[in-house]
Amino acid sequence: MNYTLEEKEAFMREALKEAEIALEHDEIPIGCVIVKDGKVIGRGHNAREELQRAVMHAEIMAIENANLSEESWRLLDCTLFVTIEPCVMCSGAIGLARIPNVVYGAKNQKFGAAGSLYDILTDERLNHRVEVETGILEDDCAEIMQDFFRNRRKK
Ligand SMILES: [Zn+2]
Repeated sequence: MNYTLEEKEAFMREALKEAEIALEHDEIPIGCVIVKDGKVIGRGHNAREELQRAVMHAEIMAIENANLSEESWRLLDCTLFVTIEPCVMCSGAIGLARIPNVVYGAKNQKFGAAGSLYDILTDERLNHRVEVETGILEDDCAEIMQDFFRNRRKK
């Protein structure tokens, strides 16, 4: 992955736009984009409430999207940008799609499987290892989540 910090922030802003869509549906605001050769080839947001689908996390929707646009299950040479650290399921899916690079904004201490609770993406026992970078637009990515949970408690 040879993107400059500016480019990475621009892609993370695209992921944040997806998180805003989740917010409009009153669900946990997490967004994701998958980038290949500097172009977004898949987008997704958490759509559990919108679609009433337990597994429709931002990363899963983005992977499905990218699989369709690439007409391939393999997403080699791609970078996945997601606002919040992927969970166990999504980390597994990232491996299954053979995505080599993941960039996430803020950590998820409760559910994160890319360094917090587990470290599935870089586990040496697994045959697919992922290069992980964190902290891109971390404050923005964390803030939209904190606002959501704060507002939900008020309701
Ligand atoms: Zn997930």
